[in-house]
Amino acid sequence: MNKAYIDPNKCDRSAMCPARRSCPEKSITQEKLGFFKRGVPVVDSEKCVSCGECIKMCPHGAITMQGPSVGQKTKIKKKKK
Ligand code: SF4
Repeated sequence: MNKAYIDPNKCDRSAMCPARRSCPEKSITQEKLGFFKRGVPVVDSEKCVSCGECIKMCPHGAITMQGPSVGQKTKIKKKKK
């Protein structure tokens, strides 16, 4: 299943990130770098249920649904031989 992915080149790293606050699963976190300064929000793909709320809320169009190969923290199970 595709999961939310945040493009760091489009994200403005706002401390008031509406996408982070809209996530019903609390799967988006953001590192605190100062009083108003934050890092790029990160989606925990284990918690994300692909509802798309964050995509609707991001004012910069920085969030898309992507497969596990695009910079996500997704555990990929290896096939047994
Ligand atoms: S798609 Fe839904 S569950 Fe996943 S990060 Fe966005 S708001 Fe949260």
